[in-house]
Amino acid sequence: TPEPLYIITPTYRRPEQIPELTRMSHTLMLVKNVHWLVIEDAAVATKQVTRLLERTGLKFEHLTAPMPEKYKQKKGAKPRGVSNRNRGLQWIRANATDGVFYFADDDNTYDIALFDEIRKTKRVSMFPVGLCTKFGLSSPIIKNEKFVGFYDGWIAGRKFPVDMAGFAVSVKFLLQRPNASMPFKAGYEEDGFLKSLAPFEPKEIEFLADNCTRVLAWHTQTKKNEPSAPLDMKLYGETNLV
Ligand code: UDP
Ligand code: MN
Repeated sequence: TPEPLYIITPTYRRPEQIPELTRMSHTLMLVKNVHWLVIEDAAVATKQVTRLLERTGLKFEHLTAPMPEKYKQKKGAKPRGVSNRNRGLQWIRANATDGVFYFADDDNTYDIALFDEIRKTKRVSMFPVGLCTKFGLSSPIIKNEKFVGFYDGWIAGRKFPVDMAGFAVSVKFLLQRPNASMPFKAGYEEDGFLKSLAPFEPKEIEFLADNCTRVLAWHTQTKKNEPSAPLDMKLYGETNLV
Protein backbone atom coordinates (compact mmCIF):
# COMPACT_ATOMS: atom_id res chain seq x y z
CA THR A 1 0.00 0.00 0.00
CA PRO A 2 1.14 3.57 -0.70
CA GLU A 3 1.95 5.98 2.14
CA PRO A 4 -1.14 7.48 3.77
CA LEU A 5 -2.83 10.61 2.48
CA TYR A 6 -4.34 12.68 5.28
CA ILE A 7 -7.22 14.81 4.04
CA ILE A 8 -8.07 17.60 6.48
CA THR A 9 -11.63 18.77 5.92
CA PRO A 10 -13.27 21.57 7.90
CA THR A 11 -17.05 21.44 7.91
CA TYR A 12 -19.97 23.08 9.73
CA ARG A 13 -23.66 22.47 10.24
CA ARG A 14 -25.95 23.86 7.55
CA PRO A 15 -28.49 22.45 5.06
CA GLU A 16 -25.73 21.87 2.48
CA GLN A 17 -23.45 19.95 4.84
CA ILE A 18 -24.62 16.40 4.15
CA PRO A 19 -24.84 16.79 0.35
CA GLU A 20 -21.36 18.39 0.24
CA LEU A 21 -19.85 15.62 2.36
CA THR A 22 -21.66 12.96 0.32
CA ARG A 23 -20.10 14.26 -2.88
CA MET A 24 -16.68 14.58 -1.34
CA SER A 25 -16.78 11.15 0.32
CA HIS A 26 -17.64 9.53 -3.01
CA THR A 27 -14.52 11.08 -4.48
CA LEU A 28 -12.32 9.88 -1.61
CA MET A 29 -13.78 6.35 -1.85
CA LEU A 30 -11.97 6.09 -5.20
CA VAL A 31 -8.57 6.85 -3.64
CA LYS A 32 -6.17 4.34 -2.02
CA ASN A 33 -5.03 4.63 1.60
CA VAL A 34 -6.86 7.82 2.48
CA HIS A 35 -7.32 8.82 6.10
CA TRP A 36 -10.04 11.48 6.24
CA LEU A 37 -9.90 13.97 9.11
CA VAL A 38 -13.33 15.60 9.23
CA ILE A 39 -13.39 18.42 11.74
CA GLU A 40 -16.61 20.18 12.60
CA ASP A 41 -16.86 23.80 13.65
CA ALA A 42 -19.23 22.80 16.44
CA ALA A 43 -19.20 21.98 20.14
CA VAL A 44 -20.63 18.50 19.53
CA ALA A 45 -20.25 16.22 16.55
CA THR A 46 -23.29 15.96 14.26
CA LYS A 47 -24.74 12.42 14.26
CA GLN A 48 -25.73 12.62 10.61
CA VAL A 49 -22.09 13.30 9.75
CA THR A 50 -20.86 10.36 11.84
CA ARG A 51 -23.36 8.07 10.08
CA LEU A 52 -22.24 9.31 6.69
CA LEU A 53 -18.58 8.70 7.56
CA GLU A 54 -19.30 5.19 8.83
CA ARG A 55 -21.11 4.31 5.61
CA THR A 56 -18.14 5.31 3.43
CA GLY A 57 -15.91 2.50 4.69
CA LEU A 58 -13.05 5.04 4.70
CA LYS A 59 -10.54 5.35 7.50
CA PHE A 60 -11.67 8.54 9.25
CA GLU A 61 -11.56 10.69 12.38
CA HIS A 62 -14.58 12.78 13.28
CA LEU A 63 -13.34 15.66 15.44
CA THR A 64 -14.75 18.99 16.63
CA ALA A 65 -13.06 22.39 16.90
CA PRO A 66 -15.43 25.33 17.32
CA MET A 67 -14.37 28.75 16.08
CA PRO A 68 -13.48 30.83 19.18
CA GLU A 69 -16.31 33.20 20.21
CA LYS A 70 -14.27 36.34 19.61
CA TYR A 71 -13.99 35.52 15.90
CA LYS A 72 -17.59 34.35 15.64
CA GLN A 73 -18.84 37.72 16.93
CA LYS A 74 -16.61 39.62 14.49
CA LYS A 75 -18.29 41.59 11.71
CA GLY A 76 -17.12 41.02 8.14
CA ALA A 77 -14.78 38.26 6.98
CA LYS A 78 -14.24 35.52 9.55
CA PRO A 79 -11.35 33.03 9.70
CA ARG A 80 -13.51 30.14 8.43
CA GLY A 81 -12.24 26.64 9.06
CA VAL A 82 -9.08 27.75 10.87
CA SER A 83 -9.70 26.13 14.26
CA ASN A 84 -10.76 22.99 12.38
CA ARG A 85 -7.55 22.86 10.32
CA ASN A 86 -5.35 23.52 13.36
CA ARG A 87 -7.15 20.66 15.13
CA GLY A 88 -6.32 18.49 12.11
CA LEU A 89 -2.65 19.47 12.36
CA GLN A 90 -2.71 18.64 16.07
CA TRP A 91 -4.11 15.18 15.24
CA ILE A 92 -1.38 14.62 12.67
CA ARG A 93 1.35 15.63 15.11
CA ALA A 94 -0.02 13.16 17.66
CA ASN A 95 -0.75 10.25 15.33
CA ALA A 96 1.01 10.38 11.96
CA THR A 97 4.62 9.61 11.06
CA ASP A 98 4.71 9.60 7.27
CA GLY A 99 2.70 10.36 4.15
CA VAL A 100 1.24 13.66 2.97
CA PHE A 101 -1.56 15.96 4.14
CA TYR A 102 -3.87 18.23 2.19
CA PHE A 103 -6.43 20.83 3.31
CA ALA A 104 -9.62 19.99 1.39
CA ASP A 105 -12.69 22.13 2.07
CA ASP A 106 -15.99 20.24 2.00
CA ASP A 107 -17.49 22.25 -0.87
CA ASN A 108 -14.67 22.04 -3.44
CA THR A 109 -14.46 19.63 -6.37
CA TYR A 110 -11.52 17.23 -6.66
CA ASP A 111 -10.36 15.16 -9.64
CA ILE A 112 -9.23 11.75 -8.35
CA ALA A 113 -5.99 12.25 -10.31
CA LEU A 114 -5.13 15.00 -7.82
CA PHE A 115 -4.53 12.45 -5.08
CA ASP A 116 -1.91 10.50 -7.06
CA GLU A 117 -0.20 13.83 -7.71
CA ILE A 118 -0.04 14.99 -4.09
CA ARG A 119 1.36 11.62 -3.00
CA LYS A 120 4.58 12.70 -4.75
CA THR A 121 5.08 15.57 -2.28
CA LYS A 122 8.49 15.41 -0.55
CA ARG A 123 8.20 18.72 1.33
CA VAL A 124 5.67 21.24 -0.03
CA SER A 125 3.98 20.94 -3.43
CA MET A 126 1.73 23.33 -5.36
CA PHE A 127 -0.66 23.09 -8.32
CA PRO A 128 -3.45 25.09 -10.01
CA VAL A 129 -6.93 25.61 -8.55
CA GLY A 130 -9.79 26.42 -10.90
CA LEU A 131 -12.74 28.76 -10.30
CA CYS A 132 -10.63 30.68 -7.85
CA THR A 133 -10.88 34.46 -7.28
CA LYS A 134 -11.97 36.94 -9.97
CA PHE A 135 -9.28 35.57 -12.31
CA GLY A 136 -10.97 32.16 -12.37
CA LEU A 137 -7.66 30.44 -11.64
CA SER A 138 -5.00 30.49 -8.97
CA SER A 139 -1.69 28.94 -9.96
CA PRO A 140 2.07 29.11 -9.81
CA ILE A 141 3.39 30.38 -13.16
CA ILE A 142 6.01 28.17 -14.81
CA LYS A 143 7.80 29.52 -17.89
CA ASN A 144 10.34 27.40 -19.77
CA GLU A 145 10.32 24.95 -16.84
CA LYS A 146 11.17 27.79 -14.43
CA PHE A 147 9.00 29.21 -11.64
CA VAL A 148 8.44 32.93 -12.24
CA GLY A 149 5.67 33.87 -9.83
CA PHE A 150 2.03 33.39 -8.87
CA TYR A 151 -1.16 34.05 -10.83
CA ASP A 152 -3.98 34.91 -8.41
CA GLY A 153 -6.70 37.55 -8.37
CA TRP A 154 -5.74 38.58 -4.84
CA ILE A 155 -2.00 39.02 -4.27
CA ALA A 156 -2.46 41.37 -1.29
CA GLY A 157 1.20 41.44 -0.33
CA ARG A 158 1.24 37.72 0.28
CA LYS A 159 4.51 35.79 -0.04
CA PHE A 160 2.48 32.71 -1.05
CA PRO A 161 -0.64 34.00 -2.87
CA VAL A 162 -2.29 30.59 -3.25
CA ASP A 163 -5.61 28.95 -2.45
CA MET A 164 -6.15 26.47 0.39
CA ALA A 165 -6.76 23.75 -2.21
CA GLY A 166 -3.53 24.57 -4.08
CA PHE A 167 -0.84 22.95 -1.96
CA ALA A 168 0.08 19.77 -0.06
CA VAL A 169 2.69 19.12 2.63
CA SER A 170 4.61 16.03 3.72
CA VAL A 171 3.94 14.85 7.25
CA LYS A 172 7.66 14.46 8.01
CA PHE A 173 8.25 18.05 6.89
CA LEU A 174 5.49 19.27 9.24
CA LEU A 175 6.83 17.23 12.16
CA GLN A 176 10.19 19.01 11.78
CA ARG A 177 8.32 22.32 12.30
CA PRO A 178 6.64 22.08 15.70
CA ASN A 179 5.43 25.69 15.62
CA ALA A 180 3.71 25.59 12.24
CA SER A 181 0.03 26.59 12.44
CA MET A 182 -2.67 28.53 10.65
CA PRO A 183 -3.38 32.10 11.80
CA PHE A 184 -6.92 33.34 12.55
CA LYS A 185 -6.53 36.01 9.89
CA ALA A 186 -9.20 36.08 7.17
CA GLY A 187 -7.65 36.14 3.70
CA TYR A 188 -4.18 35.30 4.98
CA GLU A 189 -4.72 31.75 6.23
CA GLU A 190 -2.75 30.04 3.43
CA ASP A 191 0.07 32.59 3.45
CA GLY A 192 0.31 32.56 7.24
CA PHE A 193 0.44 28.78 7.36
CA LEU A 194 3.02 28.47 4.57
CA LYS A 195 5.20 31.16 6.19
CA SER A 196 4.97 29.27 9.49
CA LEU A 197 6.73 26.37 7.71
CA ALA A 198 9.95 28.42 7.63
CA PRO A 199 12.60 27.80 6.69
CA PHE A 200 10.83 27.34 3.38
CA GLU A 201 11.10 29.55 0.29
CA PRO A 202 9.11 29.75 -2.98
CA LYS A 203 12.13 28.45 -4.92
CA GLU A 204 11.80 25.14 -3.04
CA ILE A 205 8.20 24.47 -4.12
CA GLU A 206 7.58 21.18 -5.92
CA PHE A 207 5.26 21.78 -8.87
CA LEU A 208 2.71 19.09 -9.65
CA ALA A 209 -0.02 18.49 -12.24
CA ASP A 210 2.38 18.43 -15.21
CA ASN A 211 4.24 21.57 -14.17
CA CYS A 212 0.98 23.29 -13.22
CA THR A 213 -0.64 22.86 -16.63
CA ARG A 214 -3.64 20.84 -15.40
CA VAL A 215 -6.49 21.88 -13.12
CA LEU A 216 -7.32 19.02 -10.74
CA ALA A 217 -9.04 21.00 -7.96
CA TRP A 218 -11.80 23.58 -8.24
CA HIS A 219 -12.91 26.12 -5.67
CA THR A 220 -16.59 25.46 -6.27
CA GLN A 221 -19.12 27.18 -3.99
CA THR A 222 -22.62 25.97 -3.38
CA LYS A 223 -25.45 28.47 -3.43
CA LYS A 224 -26.81 28.94 0.10
CA ASN A 225 -30.13 27.22 0.61
CA GLU A 226 -32.76 28.80 2.79
CA PRO A 227 -35.50 26.24 3.27
CA SER A 228 -38.76 28.02 4.14
CA ALA A 229 -39.86 25.05 6.24
CA PRO A 230 -37.78 23.55 9.08
CA LEU A 231 -35.30 21.04 7.72
CA ASP A 232 -36.36 17.47 8.62
CA MET A 233 -33.05 15.83 9.48
CA LYS A 234 -34.74 12.39 9.49
CA LEU A 235 -34.56 12.66 5.72
CA TYR A 236 -30.80 13.04 6.10
CA GLY A 237 -30.51 9.47 7.30
CA GLU A 238 -30.76 9.72 11.06
CA THR A 239 -33.74 9.51 13.39
CA ASN A 240 -31.87 10.41 16.56
CA LEU A 241 -31.66 14.16 16.03
CA VAL A 242 -28.97 16.44 17.40
N1 UDP B 1 -16.36 26.48 7.57
C1 UDP B 1 -16.41 26.27 8.94
N2 UDP B 1 -17.09 27.19 9.73
C2 UDP B 1 -17.73 28.27 9.20
C3 UDP B 1 -17.67 28.49 7.82
C4 UDP B 1 -16.96 27.57 7.03
O1 UDP B 1 -15.87 25.30 9.44
O2 UDP B 1 -18.33 29.04 9.98
C5 UDP B 1 -15.63 25.52 6.72
C6 UDP B 1 -16.37 25.11 5.43
O3 UDP B 1 -17.14 23.94 5.64
C7 UDP B 1 -15.22 24.91 4.43
C8 UDP B 1 -14.14 25.87 4.93
O4 UDP B 1 -14.44 26.16 6.30
O5 UDP B 1 -14.72 23.58 4.46
C9 UDP B 1 -14.09 27.18 4.14
O6 UDP B 1 -15.37 27.82 4.20
P1 UDP B 1 -16.16 28.29 2.89
O7 UDP B 1 -16.23 27.16 1.93
O8 UDP B 1 -17.45 28.89 3.33
O9 UDP B 1 -15.17 29.41 2.37
P2 UDP B 1 -15.00 29.96 0.88
O10 UDP B 1 -14.93 28.80 -0.06
O11 UDP B 1 -16.20 30.78 0.60
O12 UDP B 1 -13.74 30.72 0.94
MN1 MN C 1 -15.65 26.94 -0.06
